Amino acid sequence: MTTPFAQRRRALRKQLDEAGLGALVVTQPASWYYLTGFTGEAGALVVSAQGTMLVTDGRFTEQARREAPGVRVILQVRGLSTSLGEFLKGAPRRRGKVGFPAGHLTVAQFRAMKRAAGPRVRWAPADGYVERLRGRKDAQELAVMRRAAALADNVMAKALTILKPGVRELEVAAEIEYQMRLQGASGPAFETIVAFGERSAFPHARPTDKRLKKNELVVLDMGAILAHYCSDITRTVVVGKASPKIRGWHKAVQEARTAAVAAVRAGATCGEVDAAARQVLAGYRLDQYFTHSTGHGLGIEVHEDPRVAKGQKQKLEPGNVVTIEPGVYVPGVGGIRIEDDVAVHSGETEVLTRSPRDIIEI
Ligand code: ZN
Ligand code: ZN
Repeated sequence: MTTPFAQRRRALRKQLDEAGLGALVVTQPASWYYLTGFTGEAGALVVSAQGTMLVTDGRFTEQARREAPGVRVILQVRGLSTSLGEFLKGAPRRRGKVGFPAGHLTVAQFRAMKRAAGPRVRWAPADGYVERLRGRKDAQELAVMRRAAALADNVMAKALTILKPGVRELEVAAEIEYQMRLQGASGPAFETIVAFGERSAFPHARPTDKRLKKNELVVLDMGAILAHYCSDITRTVVVGKASPKIRGWHKAVQEARTAAVAAVRAGATCGEVDAAARQVLAGYRLDQYFTHSTGHGLGIEVHEDPRVAKGQKQKLEPGNVVTIEPGVYVPGVGGIRIEDDVAVHSGETEVLTRSPRDIIEI
């Protein structure tokens, strides 16, 4: 039986072959998991035509053997970079260079690896191979991501029930993360954002002991990890009555979100999707308050390829899952953000998160 992990390694080897690379060193944990199923926190992977080899330390060797069948597990006895280099030196002579993740290695790590490998090994910077594969989710991954999104929807509904004047941001964040685990998540995909009143103008506000006052804005941004895959959702509500100004901003952000989701399709560039959201906000003269990019890829990591940002030429492909999260942040007043997870298909785009998006007055 071939596992999805073995299939992915095969797809990667084909790409390496086409690029003239004999092997690829993989140092990101999310990419080891994607290629092997190994969930340990330390090590590195070498994928080559001769097979796949995982160097890890004594804490993880047994775990690696169980989690990653078909992968040769090598005990790391010296520094990781040196152990990797020594392995590559002793490996059968292969054609092609060894690709290394220039964006994920320090200069010192690369030097140590190169020194241990000796002069026979030739190197080439090779970023993005696994990331690109990870961006195109298969049917099984999409099924898990639908469940992770539904879990976030359930937790969002639960969180809204505890929002009342006097509750603290930290209490709401604690309840959200408790509910995630209760529903089967292994944990939050990132530190839950709960921001009341003026604090909602900080897009990445960390929860504090601030208490909620009547008529204040509430931004809830949360994500769960379920079976190794992340969800990410934001809703903005008002506990009390929203002012006409706040209602107007909310409507503008909602329209921006709708326009960006409508722009999502296979073949569209990420920059076009970002521009769709920005254009709507410009129509309301609110674009100067939209201070971050429209979205990001989502999967094993909460931020991965592709980036849905201004000017990005990368084209969306079937299987991509991205967030669409326009916002408006007015210092001293408050912020509004609406975020959904969407899957790109060759046909109609699928919105995975389904919590109501209208401004809710509790
Ligand atoms: Zn988010
Ligand atoms: Zn996000």
